[in-house]
Amino acid sequence: MHILSADQFTKKQLEELFTLTDSIKSQFLTDKNKLLKKHEGKVLITLFYEPSTRTRLSFATAAAHMGMSVISTENAREFSSAAKGETIEDTARVLEQYYPDAIVIRHHETGEVARAAAVTKVPIINAGDGKGEHPTQSLLDMYTIWDSHKKHSGLKVVLGGDLLHGRTARSLAKLLTCFDGNHIVFNTIPELQMADDIKEYLDGRGVTYEEEPDMKRAFQNADVVYWTRLQKERLPAGVHIDQTYKIDKKAMSYLPETAIVMHPLPRVDEILTEVDDDPRAKYFDQAGNGMFVRMALLDTILK
Ligand code: ASP
Repeated sequence: MHILSADQFTKKQLEELFTLTDSIKSQFLTDKNKLLKKHEGKVLITLFYEPSTRTRLSFATAAAHMGMSVISTENAREFSSAAKGETIEDTARVLEQYYPDAIVIRHHETGEVARAAAVTKVPIINAGDGKGEHPTQSLLDMYTIWDSHKKHSGLKVVLGGDLLHGRTARSLAKLLTCFDGNHIVFNTIPELQMADDIKEYLDGRGVTYEEEPDMKRAFQNADVVYWTRLQKERLPAGVHIDQTYKIDKKAMSYLPETAIVMHPLPRVDEILTEVDDDPRAKYFDQAGNGMFVRMALLDTILK
C-alpha cells in the first residue's frame, strides 16, 4: 500500500489509525522496549530531495523505536544520482533491489513521489511533494485535533497563511471532508489564497468553506486555527510577498478559550513566540504526535 494523498483515506481507516496511535503511544510511555520487537529486522529507507527536520527524523525515530533499521539520504537532490540526471523511477527500481520494507520520499516537484510509486511494489510514503500534498502531516494534524477536541466533526477550522504554495493545508482540507459538518475558513491575503482544485474537492464532498480575510471575524467561534508559513522557496522568481498575517497575543484574544492553534512547523515569524505559553498553542505537541502517528502508520503498512 502506497501513501500518496490524503484523499485515499476513509473515515473508518482514520479512526482505526488514531485508535492504534493511542495504543502505541500508551505502550511507548509505559514500556517502550516492548515495541522494539514489533518490526525487528525490517528496513526503512528515507529519501529526501528537500530539507526536513520533523518528517524525516520522526519517521526515522518511529522506525527505530519499533526495531527497524533506517537507511537515509537527507539531501538526495545533491548527493544521490539525481544530481547526475537519474529519474526517480530508476532510483525507485534500484532501491527495490535492496529489499527495503518501505520508502519515505520527499521531493521538490509535485507528482514525483507518485511516479516512484508507479514502478515499485515497495510501499512508498509521500513525505511532501512540492506544493502538492503532505498526507502524513495531515494524519498527525487530524490526530492532534482529536487529541484536543475528542471529535473530528462539526468543527470550524481556520486555515491561514500561505495556502497557495503550502501542501499541508491542502492535505488537511481533504481529510476534514471525511467527517461530517466541518466548516473551513480560509484566512489569508488574495495572493496566497487556496487553489481551486481544493475548493472543487470540498464542493464535491459537501464541505462548506468561506474566504474571510479579516482575522478577527475568521477567529470568532473557531475550534481550530491552522497557521502556515510563507513558502518562500516556492514563490516564482522575482515575486516578493510580505506575510502580513501574524498571530500575536492580540490575535489570540479573538479566539475562544477552547480553540487550539496548530502549525506544521517550521515557524518563521507568523506566530510570535509570545503565544507559545498560551495553553491553546498546540504546535509542539502536534510535532510530538507526529512520531506516534507515523509509528501507527508504519505498523499498519508493514503488517
Ligand atoms: N514542514 C511542512 C512541509 O514540509 C511545512 C513547511 O515546510 O512549511 O510542508
